[in-house]
Amino acid sequence: MDAYLENRCKVFDENYKRVLERFHEAALKSGRQPSEITLLAATKTVEPAVINHAYRQGIRVMGENRVQEFLSKEEQLEPGLRRQFIGTLQTNKVRQIVGKVELIQSVDSLKLAHEIARQSLMRSIVTDVLVEINIGNEEAKSGIDAAALPAFLEQLADISGIRVRGLMTLGPLHLSNDKKLQVFEKMQKLFIDNKAKKVDNIFMDILSMGMSGDFDIAILAGSNMVRVGTALFGARQYQ
Ligand SMILES: *Cc1c(COP(=O)(O)O)cnc(C)c1O
Repeated sequence: MDAYLENRCKVFDENYKRVLERFHEAALKSGRQPSEITLLAATKTVEPAVINHAYRQGIRVMGENRVQEFLSKEEQLEPGLRRQFIGTLQTNKVRQIVGKVELIQSVDSLKLAHEIARQSLMRSIVTDVLVEINIGNEEAKSGIDAAALPAFLEQLADISGIRVRGLMTLGPLHLSNDKKLQVFEKMQKLFIDNKAKKVDNIFMDILSMGMSGDFDIAILAGSNMVRVGTALFGARQYQ
């Protein structure tokens, strides 16, 4: 491995210790075991060698944002590493990733859901998805409004080829910690309320919220999957 990559691995090792401390502390504070919460490594811009190093240190799940970038890395990744898609997904790119990721976290339109289902049925598989919610984030162009969720879930329930596993949000980016906690708690309530409805084909066992700056707050509010990039791998050149 060249010196640059070796250094990136070293940066990961130092960061990983701190992230695990925050992660464990928040889990215990929220009344859960760390093992009940998934730490997903958001690996956009991270080289496959560094991702594989992270896997050997204990990271089990990764999420990519861009289809092209994912495809360029995919074959170089450790086979045991679980792959998910967390970025905005264009309908015309769906066929390139269905079957290659275990979960698509960013379903926010019926059109996208239908295309994931169609591509899944062609491969005789069912693809797990999360519904992306836009909550407290005015800048985000992705995600549906919380108020639209119940009707959206009813529509998704009728589509074979996908299975809804829960909700994902980017959350608010520039609020104080108190305000962020309030928004994350709103999201948790939305998750619980819709889980209780027991719509066929809607499972609601994953609540994916919290990133580098706020994953501990999200865990306190009930998140069971956090997506962490910068805090693990260091700053990126692009978003
Ligand atoms: C990049 C990204 C993350 C991680 O963001 P960091 O602030 O670097 O931890 C999480 N979720 C999504 C959808 C992302 O694109």
